[in-house]
Amino acid sequence: AKIYNIDNWGSELFSINKKGHVCVHPSPTSKYSIDLRDLMEDLIKRKIKPPILLRFMDILEGRIGAINRAFKSAISENDYPAKYRTFYPIKVNQQRQVVEAITQFGKRYNIGLEVGSKPELVVAISFASGTNIPIICNGYKDAEFIETVLYATKIGFDITIVVEKLFELEKIIALAKKVGIVPKLGIRVKLSSKGTGKWATSGGEDAKFGLRISELITAIELLEEEGMVDKLKLLHFHIGSQITKIDKIKNALIEGTRVYAEMRKMGVDLEYVDIGGGLGVDYDGTKSSYFSSVNYTVEEYANDVVYQIKNICDEAGVECPNIISESGRAIVAHYSVLITNALDTNTQSLSPDFEEVLETTEKLSPTVRKLVDIYKSIDRHSLREDYHDTLQLIQEAVSLFNLGYLNLQDRAVAEWLCSRIFKKINGIVEKIKPIPEELSNFHLSLRQTYFANFSLFQSIPDSWAIDQLFPIMPIQRLNQKPDVMASIADITCDSDGEITSFVGENGRSKFLPLHKVRKNEDYYIGFFLIGAYQEILGDMHNLFGDTNAVHITFNKKTNYKIDTVINGDAVWESLKYVQYKGPEILKHVRDTLEKSVAHRKVSIEESSHFLELLDKTLLGYTYFGE
Ligand code: PLP
Repeated sequence: AKIYNIDNWGSELFSINKKGHVCVHPSPTSKYSIDLRDLMEDLIKRKIKPPILLRFMDILEGRIGAINRAFKSAISENDYPAKYRTFYPIKVNQQRQVVEAITQFGKRYNIGLEVGSKPELVVAISFASGTNIPIICNGYKDAEFIETVLYATKIGFDITIVVEKLFELEKIIALAKKVGIVPKLGIRVKLSSKGTGKWATSGGEDAKFGLRISELITAIELLEEEGMVDKLKLLHFHIGSQITKIDKIKNALIEGTRVYAEMRKMGVDLEYVDIGGGLGVDYDGTKSSYFSSVNYTVEEYANDVVYQIKNICDEAGVECPNIISESGRAIVAHYSVLITNALDTNTQSLSPDFEEVLETTEKLSPTVRKLVDIYKSIDRHSLREDYHDTLQLIQEAVSLFNLGYLNLQDRAVAEWLCSRIFKKINGIVEKIKPIPEELSNFHLSLRQTYFANFSLFQSIPDSWAIDQLFPIMPIQRLNQKPDVMASIADITCDSDGEITSFVGENGRSKFLPLHKVRKNEDYYIGFFLIGAYQEILGDMHNLFGDTNAVHITFNKKTNYKIDTVINGDAVWESLKYVQYKGPEILKHVRDTLEKSVAHRKVSIEESSHFLELLDKTLLGYTYFGE
């Protein structure tokens, strides 16, 4: 468990059982668990093929509960005189069943929905119909968007439109006057406080969204002139997703609450302060301020939010607002896990073996002979010198080869010797302490590439786009010492489709310890905490489509229940996104084959077999089969 740091990033939702398999729990306190390896075997028996995205809906309930409980106790500890409410930002994961589960589980906490586009608005309206789920609209809005909000207000939806730009306010006022309906209004303010990490530019004075303080004054004056200022109920700010440092959150809260207090003093009857997102996830389990981690807990976050807002309001002598947070990442990150099989890793049996050259070295070139000597004599005393000499000799071998002085056989032997020497060095290095500095990263030279049946661009795009760390580990054989230090390559034809940064014992590690895959063994690798943003940001590089997805709930009697199976894209579906039609392709190939048959270049049997294969491929999964 230690080498993968699962106890720290797992948030007591993931652990290792006695069988050495990874298990998932619905909540930290639950006595139930599902063995992921056993589950995979059951899914394979059901003919569901990897890669499979497992979605554990109960985890969503646990996370919503944890955030709301944290705020509840912060409110009671601080004697906070108003309420807290979560608004789930749909953009983090718009999947219907996810939003359905969140609104369902969130009922007891009066959860709301936050939207940032017209499609998301439609989703929210559909969930809010017949319920009293409130909606907050952020992001840029056109006339159609605004008009929809106006009529939704008239019909009785609890919907707030947040002004992101001054020109937007003018548009809202004009439409409100035309239609004769004034909506509930919010204003997003640009704070000078910034977040940390990759999303720091969401805050600060040059942020894309929000009104500067001077514009805020203009907006209030404009609303006063129009007699609409009584509709301004909410002040919003957002300094970025995954804020890694609690003091950055504190700074934003102090500044944001000061703005709130001053607006109240100006006579604006604000009821809510919406602190946006930012509540981060500890992806690497280090509890640090590195951007894949956070240096605070949900409880500390809630406590700081409530304490800071109350403190400033008391000081300024204004009423405390109801607090809203738009925490999406912290709700959904944990609920999904991608599991796939390692492909073609056991290259050991195919590796060349030049053992016999160690006996008869006369025919070898002098450079290669020197490598043989090093291999035979290396020990802990000659370690450094031999390491440097090996690096130099292998370079020399390549140069000699390029100049035509070394034959292909000798170059192959040099390569083989080099890897044997490195293995020997590794064996020695493991036993000595302290490890000489130049050898501290030595094991990297032994890193082997494991190919896994997935597309990084489809399933964990942020790993590529912003170098985000996600916990990755095998889900079985965890009571056996791993024998290989690996990197994980996907099956796209893109050399960027390789992961070389992993969550390790002390944070970031450049290799993933894996086991040698045995013959006929299915060796599965899990990619964890991928529920936030990844499912929607994923793209179709090389036309690898959506993976199979299985929705699972915990069940007292049967351990687990499969709620839904969503088939991943078939090849024809991937092709359809780029305007190809399967039947047309088949017809075109058939016509061509008929001509070849007519000219007796191809037999009828060969032609029909080929068409059958093509047809089967079109109907099949975009990922690798057997
Ligand atoms: N609210 C707004 C306005 C956002 O832009 C975002 C994302 O950046 C969120 C909420 C979600 O934040 P998080 O990812 O921290 O949950």
